Amino acid sequence: RQGVVVITGASSGLGLAAAKALAETGKWHVVMACRDFLKAAKAAKGAGMAEGSYTIMHLDLASLDSVRQFVESFRRSGMPLDSLVCNAAIYRPTARTPTFTADGHEMSVGVNHLGHFLLARLLLEDLQKSDYPSRRLIILGSITGNTNTLAGNIPPKAGLGDLRGLAGGLRGTQNGSAMIDGSDSFDGAKAYKDSKICNMLTMQELHRRYHEETGITFASLYPGCIATTGLFREHIPLFRLLFPPFQKFVTKGFVSEAESGKRLAQVVSDPSLTKSGVYWSWNKDSASFENQLSQEASDPEKARKLWEISEKLVGLA
Ligand code: NDP
Repeated sequence: RQGVVVITGASSGLGLAAAKALAETGKWHVVMACRDFLKAAKAAKGAGMAEGSYTIMHLDLASLDSVRQFVESFRRSGMPLDSLVCNAAIYRPTARTPTFTADGHEMSVGVNHLGHFLLARLLLEDLQKSDYPSRRLIILGSITGNTNTLAGNIPPKAGLGDLRGLAGGLRGTQNGSAMIDGSDSFDGAKAYKDSKICNMLTMQELHRRYHEETGITFASLYPGCIATTGLFREHIPLFRLLFPPFQKFVTKGFVSEAESGKRLAQVVSDPSLTKSGVYWSWNKDSASFENQLSQEASDPEKARKLWEISEKLVGLA
């Protein structure tokens, strides 16, 4: 039978490109889990995705209620779940004041980490029920959260500290810090990088807790620098103008949306990428390899602590 893959944030950029790449194989039915139904419908049509090869379902990761409702609607659809891709993200690089999710958590970590944490935990049950030969749960990571790389060393650097801000619920300065490390001042660029560390730590903790028992493959990846996606929409105009040619000609780390989509599709379906607990990257010839995470992004003690605090914040503990 066809596999069923849920991709969050499939209305633009990498998520859309991967949805298209998987749907085109004819082997996958793609559930596009998006906050803006009309935008997703236009994007799928505009990308030339065949009718019937995808279903759009509403999911707003900035609301934990919406996450729970999505899980219910997905279950009601009667589709099995063979693969889940936690791809959606927001990036507020110039923000100096926090914004908040419906549940009152700082937005970057709320959407990128907490919403996905709840979604992944709830849908684990569905992945376990699937009879598909290779079931996978994939969470997008990033080089920018990894301080063992050049890009990861551009300030402000990622760093979760002792997680005291997260433990306080990321509620903002009057009610506590909006930053995971508990610092008083808000930095949108750092909040994004911190959220990506959380994504990579969560993938590894899922692997440690569930891989052996369930056989599910847990993986993360850095698809390359896709300098043209909507992720940079809130950056200053000069940055948006210069970033793509800079990545193309100076760092040579640039990948097109189509190429990045193929890479993510590989992590979903390639029979050679079944190893669990891996952070995939690609070399200049577009060959995949197991990459190393920074010390903080692979710290098992931090991953456990992050797991326990996140469980409380999303109402699972
Ligand atoms: P885009 O901004 O193009 O796509 C992000 C997607 O997330 C959009 O579909 C957006 O929806 C969705 N989204 C945002 N907020 C919410 C929400 N509250 N609920 C549901 N969906 C939401 O970015 P990219 O394609 O570049 O990013 C995709 C992933 O790739 C991210 O995890 C990012 O961290 C990662 N990544 C990207 C890199 C790059 O260079 N671009 C490099 C490394 C990793 P909408 O269309 O409605 O805005």
